[in-house]
Amino acid sequence: MRYISTRGDQNERSFSEILLEGLAPDGGLYLPTAYPRIDSATLERWRGLPYAELAFEILSLYIDDIPRSDLMRLVAATYNEQVFGTKEIVPLRRLEDGVFIEALSNGPTLAFKDMAMQLLGALFEFELGRRGQTLNILGATSGDTGSAAEYAMRGKRGVNVFMLSPHGRMSPFQQAQMFSLQDENIHNLAIEGVFDDCQDIVKAVSGDLAFKRRWHIGTVNSINWARLLAQVVYYFAGYFQATKTNAERVSFAVPSGNFGNICAGHVARMMGLPIDRLVAATNENDVLDEFFRTGRYRVRASAETFETSSPSMDISKASNFERFVFDLLGRDAVRTAELFGTSVSTAGGFTLDVPDFEHIADFGFVSGKSTHADRVAMIRAAWERHHTMIDTHTADGLKVGLEHVMPGVPMIVLETALPAKFAETIREAIGLEPARPAGLEGLEALPKRFAVMPPDVAAVKHYIETHA
Ligand SMILES: *Cc1c(COP(=O)(O)O)cnc(C)c1O
Repeated sequence: MRYISTRGDQNERSFSEILLEGLAPDGGLYLPTAYPRIDSATLERWRGLPYAELAFEILSLYIDDIPRSDLMRLVAATYNEQVFGTKEIVPLRRLEDGVFIEALSNGPTLAFKDMAMQLLGALFEFELGRRGQTLNILGATSGDTGSAAEYAMRGKRGVNVFMLSPHGRMSPFQQAQMFSLQDENIHNLAIEGVFDDCQDIVKAVSGDLAFKRRWHIGTVNSINWARLLAQVVYYFAGYFQATKTNAERVSFAVPSGNFGNICAGHVARMMGLPIDRLVAATNENDVLDEFFRTGRYRVRASAETFETSSPSMDISKASNFERFVFDLLGRDAVRTAELFGTSVSTAGGFTLDVPDFEHIADFGFVSGKSTHADRVAMIRAAWERHHTMIDTHTADGLKVGLEHVMPGVPMIVLETALPAKFAETIREAIGLEPARPAGLEGLEALPKRFAVMPPDVAAVKHYIETHA
């Protein structure tokens, strides 16, 4: 399998070449030259497989430059009961007739990002070891992404993580999750400023190309193809759990921000998984809902990006979205480059032509939006009617998913975090304290390992130089 850029860079690359990369050199995102089609006999064979074996089957269609025995070993070390808490890895539970919740949040940081990030940690360690290289991952976080990256990379050979967070501004739980890690290769830098200050420092350090090259600075952001690929697997696993035969179709409702999760659903559908609808659910930050309803993609300014009670979906633009538009436009890289390279940067967005807009329906996408009041009402309804506690992001998915249920087609809502992470809104909705998974009860009391520093690029560079 070879990979190309959505903006037309004609150099085809192998999986291992793009694994440690972010954007393609032309600013586009990597995609396979074609999606492998899964026939019904293969789907039937996969139906009975344990999660790790299913993951191996799917990954090996896209990864042909890691020996099969190594890939199987990495996958088995990732998708097991020790890491994800259950043998099923992504167990499906029935909420009501035809409505299911697929649990993607039983990994170490209680959010779905672990599903991909844990595999990425194993792949990075393997690839860096094979090349005899090291990598210093630099990132900024206000919560979920940073902790998922740290738990994926902790103790991995050849990798250091330098994670910047706004000092005193994360929730006590999120802070404890990250700062309690005692691994030598994990570095928490608490910056005396806000999240944007952290982000600006990361940009400045990565923008110093000499420093970047000398210290092997890299990232693990959501545009990484391997992260997306790992997420394709749980669409298949959810489908198999909700159906008995391949003649059945299902829909998925996906709490969406950067369009990474639902883009994996798009890939699964392109591979031939019988998905009826892909329901993109947004919160008050409705960039994607506006697009799917109107064909207009309008990037928001920071003043127009709201802080909500489903904070991991608070985005101003959807960084993976270009991949879908490339497919929608029949893989026309020239037009994709015009839209994302030119229109987004000069005009803050674009509007699709009518025929392209009408073509969206052929890809199954629909959308909707959920507000704080909706999410509180959904958390309450799920608790009162079904005795199920859901987190705020999953509540957005459920709210919008229910608006798109078709008779006879199961709706699978992806659970993207556990309620324990967002206790404040759970208390507001149902007056109860969400239970913590075993082992996390005393998290806030554990010893913490972090360095406080001013919002100063030179100070952060110096820290990297002395700790890498
Ligand atoms: C990251 C995240 C999302 C959004 O996922 P995207 O892939 O960015 O669309 C939704 N819910 C939770 C809990 C998350 O951490």
